[in-house]
Amino acid sequence: MVMDLTPSSSVKLSDGHFMPVLGLGTYAPETVPKSKALEATKVAIDIGYRHIDAAYMYQNEEEMGQAIREKIAGGTVKRKDIFYTSKLWCTFLRPDLVGPALERSLKKLQLDYVDLYLIHMPVALKPGEELLPMDASGNVILETVDLLGTWEALEKCKDAGLTKSIGVSNFNHKQLEMILNKPGLKYKPVCNQVECHPYLNQSKLLDFCKSKDIVLVAYSALGSHRDPRWVAQDSPHLLQDPVLAAIAKKHNRTTGQVALRYQLQRGVVVLAKSFNEKRIKENFQIFDFKLTPEDMKAIDGMNRNFRYSVMEFAIGHPYYPFSEEY
Ligand code: NAP
Repeated sequence: MVMDLTPSSSVKLSDGHFMPVLGLGTYAPETVPKSKALEATKVAIDIGYRHIDAAYMYQNEEEMGQAIREKIAGGTVKRKDIFYTSKLWCTFLRPDLVGPALERSLKKLQLDYVDLYLIHMPVALKPGEELLPMDASGNVILETVDLLGTWEALEKCKDAGLTKSIGVSNFNHKQLEMILNKPGLKYKPVCNQVECHPYLNQSKLLDFCKSKDIVLVAYSALGSHRDPRWVAQDSPHLLQDPVLAAIAKKHNRTTGQVALRYQLQRGVVVLAKSFNEKRIKENFQIFDFKLTPEDMKAIDGMNRNFRYSVMEFAIGHPYYPFSEEY
């Protein structure tokens, strides 16, 4: 894989579709105007990004759709050139809510299909309009939904042509196994999108996924958005790490580029969020240098099983994914 990596490199998914190895992340804190997501996505498509990661929960699907449609109308890309991911939020995990949730995303996007639809988290919340429904004491209202039923509903979305591929996010290996062992399984999850960076390199989950032909997609690969809503503000700053800095200096690159390249060389599809043109470009310049085996080993050595997003609201749910080692 390392030798052949180019800006148009993709990985073949277990269902035969292809996923570009670098994707644009689009989550931003609520205080960031949604117009920034629109502009960044258009800039990214101009630069050459073909994989865009979004979600119903990010509340940016109107802007994502607009950016993609404008770039199609302007002749920069065709719909088939873009790989667009959306995600089923936790309040829609009941099987009867899955199809309508995807249809709602498509309506916001004004697109006919998404390329990939993921279960955003294995934890169900009380259905309704609130993203995080709360009781009178301010506790998020959890509920238990049989994820195998949710998965069957995703399979139906694929059969109906609403999405090309289906997968999961934030699943641990036992939860992946549960889906893989489902009686009558029609489609395997093509990927598991999880937090993954040098401080949480997910080596065991990666080995597991590789053994099952499931692509691991890395989020927060640059050390996360650090949105105070989700991330403790005293978390370490990944891109300031001296090990990454030394490797970056040696290659005349930035620590961000090294952190992204690291994932590509270990067979991980990587997401990079930026709404800043200079950094969107910088993050795309990772196909013209190579980390040595020694660099890779040194970065592997940075692992400290440190998670930026612990998803506190879901702690206590029987399917809370991060109590397992991997
Ligand atoms: P990230 O990609 O780790 O990093 C984003 C932060 O780094 C932003 O603050 C960005 O700021 C900055 N940045 C970007 N490029 C940089 C560079 N070259 N040098 C220095 N700083 C740089 O962020 P993330 O949002 O946590 O993860 C990426 C994407 O993964 C998300 O946007 C979302 O699509 C997805 N995600 C999924 C889940 C899930 O549960 N499935 C959870 C979290 C994230 P600027 O914008 O100012 O450049």
